[in-house]
Amino acid sequence: MKKQTAKERIRNFKEVALGLSAEEALKEASRCLFCKKAKCSANCPVEIDIPRFINAIKNRRFDEAIRIIKEKNNLPGVCGRVCPQENQCEDACILNAKKAPINIGGLERFVADYELQHILRVEGIGHEALGHKVAIIGSGPAGLTCAGDLARMGYKVTVFEALHTAGGVLVYGIPEFRLPKEIVKKEVKYLEFLGIEVKTNFIVGKTSSLKDIFEQGYKAVFIGTGAGLPSFMNVPGENLNRVYSSNELLTRVNLMKAYLFPEYDTPINIGKKVAVIGGGNTAMDSARVSVRLGAEKVYIVYRRTENEMPARKEERENAKEEGVEFRMLTLPTGIIGDEKGFVKSMECVKMELGEPDDSGRRRPVIVKDSEFIMDVDTVIVAIGQNPNPVFLKATPELALNKWSKIITDPRTQATNIKGVYAGGDATEGDDTVIAAMGAGKRAAKAISVYLKNEK
Ligand code: FAD
Ligand code: SF4
Repeated sequence: MKKQTAKERIRNFKEVALGLSAEEALKEASRCLFCKKAKCSANCPVEIDIPRFINAIKNRRFDEAIRIIKEKNNLPGVCGRVCPQENQCEDACILNAKKAPINIGGLERFVADYELQHILRVEGIGHEALGHKVAIIGSGPAGLTCAGDLARMGYKVTVFEALHTAGGVLVYGIPEFRLPKEIVKKEVKYLEFLGIEVKTNFIVGKTSSLKDIFEQGYKAVFIGTGAGLPSFMNVPGENLNRVYSSNELLTRVNLMKAYLFPEYDTPINIGKKVAVIGGGNTAMDSARVSVRLGAEKVYIVYRRTENEMPARKEERENAKEEGVEFRMLTLPTGIIGDEKGFVKSMECVKMELGEPDDSGRRRPVIVKDSEFIMDVDTVIVAIGQNPNPVFLKATPELALNKWSKIITDPRTQATNIKGVYAGGDATEGDDTVIAAMGAGKRAAKAISVYLKNEK
């Protein structure tokens, strides 16, 4: 897929990958073998009929292709851009063994963009009015998917969202240059067309409680409150000026448009030499945002090696092309401030890989007498997120595990409270968009069974 050149894109926040043209999509679709027992579909967490939609593209029936995708996935423009296809459908593609797998993500994005440009309206499947009201807490991919599936079945669905815009991490976390907010907005509009109602600026646990929601006549609830609470390193100096959580940095930039300050109200103050701590997608996004905000040197500081990094390969490559330097096997041990309380440098130690730990990855261990100082003036901590605590604190009857994740039955996403279901990062910890969507789908099915039995 064509991209903006690194030189061009580091000066703007526009989308990096430019998408496939119709001719490129037709050519790619014609490579597909249309396998009878398609491994690609079996490896798709929302079970899209991949060979059928690729065949529709091959025959230039783009509107049919999007209809096939939307039987299972209400957010194809999002998934075509940010799903880790290389570990899922494309990894399983039969052509992967011999040559390049089919670019399934690129084709999904192509038809999703085609639909958005041509304003096709793919109707819901059921639309039989079933009467019951269902409340969804949180409008990230888990909540939106659960809401969309229930609306298609004919339920009356209201999504309560704490922020002023729907989308969760899709709007406040993932930057514009990877996922334009206009795409998220249009896909949310499509869900509204299916019948869901979104109430923004509504914090369940503060504006209303779970009990209030049931008293308002909602018969079932899905909790998709995500993992919005950042982890910190707990090292000295972490409270200095110009130490940010990736959450704060990305929310200011993506949701509040800090890169357009003063046209938009929210400023961001980063220096010239930025260290981003972590090795996931959030770390790559924070580093690439820092480059675009004008930092001269941006480092990814990670305690393992690149082989163990959870970030997508494509995003690691994009970051390197944009000049981000990778400092592997490095662990920060403290942040040093100047007399005004701003970051002046960062103390680190070198690491080496030891025996595998519980995750199966080799455990990083400190190399003796390897202390050194990194010359940086900004530190962004991107080492993971924990479940958003606001709703959980206000709902003590909800069973949580020792990491404060909501305990659910993995087949139905049911919690310990009757009629209450949960999924996405609130139950799994920071995971992926498609895993959150898969949980939303399972919950929608289970909620429908529950409501029919209740009736
Ligand atoms: P979220 O998307 O976190 O949404 C939860 C929503 O609930 C939020 O809008 C929040 O405001 C709202 N909420 C919370 N509490 C309340 C309350 N009490 N009342 C009302 N509303 C509430 N995954 C990928 O697959 N590919 C990627 O490239 C990728 N990149 C990422 C980059 C970043 C920077 C981050 C942070 C994550 C990334 N992920 C990626 C992970 C992915 O975005 C998440 O796994 C996914 O968004 C989880 O979805 P969710 O619906 O569970 O929660
Ligand atoms: Fe096409 Fe690959 Fe899926 Fe086979 S596995 S149907 S070749 S995309």
